[in-house]
Amino acid sequence: MTALFAPKSVNEFSALLVECGERKKHFVAGGTDWLIKTRGNISDEAAVFDMSKMPELRGIEIIDSSLRLGAMETMTSIHSNMAVMLNATALSDAASSMGSVQIRNRATVGGNLANASPAADTPCALAALGASVIVFSISGRKVLSIEEVLGSCPNTNTLLPNEIIMEFCVPVRKGYVSAFKKIGSRSEVSIARVNMAVSAKYEGETFSDARVFVGTLGSAAKRCLGAENTLALDPSLREQSFKEALCEFAEQMIPGRSTLSYKKSVLKALAEDLLGMLEERVRVSEKSGEESHG
Ligand SMILES: Cc1cc2nc3c(=O)[nH]c(=O)nc-3n(C[C@H](O)[C@H](O)[C@H](O)COP(=O)(O)OP(=O)(O)OC[C@H]3O[C@@H](n4cnc5c(N)ncnc54)[C@H](O)[C@@H]3O)c2cc1C
Repeated sequence: MTALFAPKSVNEFSALLVECGERKKHFVAGGTDWLIKTRGNISDEAAVFDMSKMPELRGIEIIDSSLRLGAMETMTSIHSNMAVMLNATALSDAASSMGSVQIRNRATVGGNLANASPAADTPCALAALGASVIVFSISGRKVLSIEEVLGSCPNTNTLLPNEIIMEFCVPVRKGYVSAFKKIGSRSEVSIARVNMAVSAKYEGETFSDARVFVGTLGSAAKRCLGAENTLALDPSLREQSFKEALCEFAEQMIPGRSTLSYKKSVLKALAEDLLGMLEERVRVSEKSGEESHG
């Protein structure tokens, strides 16, 4: 018979992993992807782990100069959290744009990354924010980047069979702004046709140290170095150059694909919107006299 476990701590989880040995293991967070993927087809030999009872996988807090996010935090808890809004605005944007209210109430940030969809929203934002991922297993903890967890195969993460995502650490950097936006086929409950996240340091009207990630052009969100460089240009030149760099990137990533011209026009629209969002956030922070943190 399929075994079901709901460990109440990572120590108990660790002991259960050892006890289960070579059994196939399913780790269930909010279940919004897992239920659709498995459709009840679980072998009798499998062990299903409900991850919702482990307090170590919960919490949103600022520790030193990082924003710590438990992997089991939901999209609703993330986008309604003031610390996320102020210190990781792109993540707040991404969490609030995901699915429906019902999906956001269940879908977790750990599940969104582990599912590794090319169109996933929060991994794109977390990558632009330079977040690191703390992975837990019987042999201890390790720290990976978002890109390392996503790897190069669509819908497949690089975690080993007994590894889980425990938490994320997002650097809190004074004088930085960030934003995320996606375009889908509908205005609500829509998977991204293209999504993009940007974070950058600002000084007056000038941006530097930018990170730009674009989803749906490859196996997962991909960094666009060419576009990052254009954000440092004079404001009068940057929007056009930003758009051109993104279109060039799309040509490299999906050459000859029938959707290329559509994706290029979406990228241009997203570029305009995201630059507008960043500029507005700089204006708001300068007006309030409070330096933005990301
Ligand atoms: C109607 C609908 C709309 C959606 N809209 C969007 C959208 O707009 N944007 C978007 O990005 N996604 C969307 N999704 C996809 C989905 O909701 C997200 O990917 C969600 O964040 C997955 O999280 P979960 O907690 O439900 O994961 P689960 O379904 O529980 O798990 C997904 C996978 O990740 C693994 N996993 C989960 N947590 C961990 C962990 N901590 N460590 C290791 N492995 C783990 C599971 O084993 C499973 O393989 C939508 C889904 C539906 C059904």
